[in-house]
Amino acid sequence: MTFVGWTEVRVVVDDVFEIESDCRTCGSSDLLPVLDLGDQPPANSLRSDPAEDLVAVPLNLVFCGKCRVPQLTATVDPVELFARYVWVTGTAQATRAYSHTFRDQIVTAHGDAGDAKRFLVEVASNDGTFLRRFQESGWKVLGVDPAQNIVDEAVTSGVPTRCDFFDLGVAEEIEREHGLADVVVARNVIPHAKAIRSIMEGIAALIGDRGIAAIEFHSANRIVEELHYDSIYHEHLFYFSLTTLSALCERYGLLAFDVFDSPISGGSRVLLLSFGEREETEALRSALAEEAESGVCDYGTWTRFGEASKCHAAALAEAVRELAVTGPVVGYGASARSSTMMNFAGINVDEVVAVIDQNPGKQGLYTPGTDIPIVSRAEGLSMLGDDGGVLLLAWNFADEILEGLRADGIRCDVLVPLPGDMRTIREGDEWRS
Ligand SMILES: [Zn+2]
Repeated sequence: MTFVGWTEVRVVVDDVFEIESDCRTCGSSDLLPVLDLGDQPPANSLRSDPAEDLVAVPLNLVFCGKCRVPQLTATVDPVELFARYVWVTGTAQATRAYSHTFRDQIVTAHGDAGDAKRFLVEVASNDGTFLRRFQESGWKVLGVDPAQNIVDEAVTSGVPTRCDFFDLGVAEEIEREHGLADVVVARNVIPHAKAIRSIMEGIAALIGDRGIAAIEFHSANRIVEELHYDSIYHEHLFYFSLTTLSALCERYGLLAFDVFDSPISGGSRVLLLSFGEREETEALRSALAEEAESGVCDYGTWTRFGEASKCHAAALAEAVRELAVTGPVVGYGASARSSTMMNFAGINVDEVVAVIDQNPGKQGLYTPGTDIPIVSRAEGLSMLGDDGGVLLLAWNFADEILEGLRADGIRCDVLVPLPGDMRTIREGDEWRS
């Protein structure tokens, strides 16, 4: 196996973050500007006292003219980003439903193992929601996740999980203890990984010659087509397409053989890889051909995305201001994405009185940079009247949330910012995502 060379040139700006001057995957210095979202606090740095100082870090998307991977320039210290990580996989109903589909797809792709007990390792396994599905199918599983509070929760619920940042060293230790894995899963972690090279080496080492890897990532095609500029936040370092992720994996000897769609983040994909053991499927061939036509690997596509994002954010801020004149506006979903959207658009506590989040770990805290109190669903709904409205920040769960709001008798307008053009859903309007 050969690895492409890499030169590290980094400028240390602060203890908390560094600015990369070269491409994170190929080392080229040909980085072209796409969209500067300004200096923003790390999106998950929720805090209990809004007076507490926050570091503002450049949130700047650039495009590598050589390997064509859009990426961020700033790397925030992973300890700063992940130590207080409060996203829990099992929270959303749609995510739990998808965990069953995901398991079925992987079981089919792996094929029949006869009577042998299969072994699956998940990188950044969070609360173990996805691993539990494989346990139900009789697989042996092991999760690896860096957030101690979430690991404790997973272990207590019966999912073996190790508290660590996954890398080559951890992969080798797992192999010594448990043997090679039949499947290694990395859901929405590769695009977030500062140590991407060591993680890829770890995955390649752990599946050996016979296993498969499943890498899930927020699809760059959907990001540009539907203006998901809110998916740009400090943790999300890389914006891969099938073409660019396949090319990256090839450097580690891993060849893509299949792909399937995921509903996560408003449109993701799962790329399946092996050491050339498997034949390329028609699904992968046609997805790659479609991507070649879409222009997602062209710089011009990304500059147009940057301009359209600026116009969208300005129009959204105006719409929220107008809505706030009529009555209280409550946000829905205190995610990393909502942090980017509100900070970029300049929406804050002057317009939005509270943000609902169903995760009890976030309630009682304040949104970073915009200082809006995060409240329970019941509390947030009690603030709403017939005027004013809901700003549906978690638009990627719009079906589930809208249905619940109307079922609970919420009659005010609901502003759905994305995908694409924003929409205002009035009482009685038919909603179709
Ligand atoms: Zn590059």
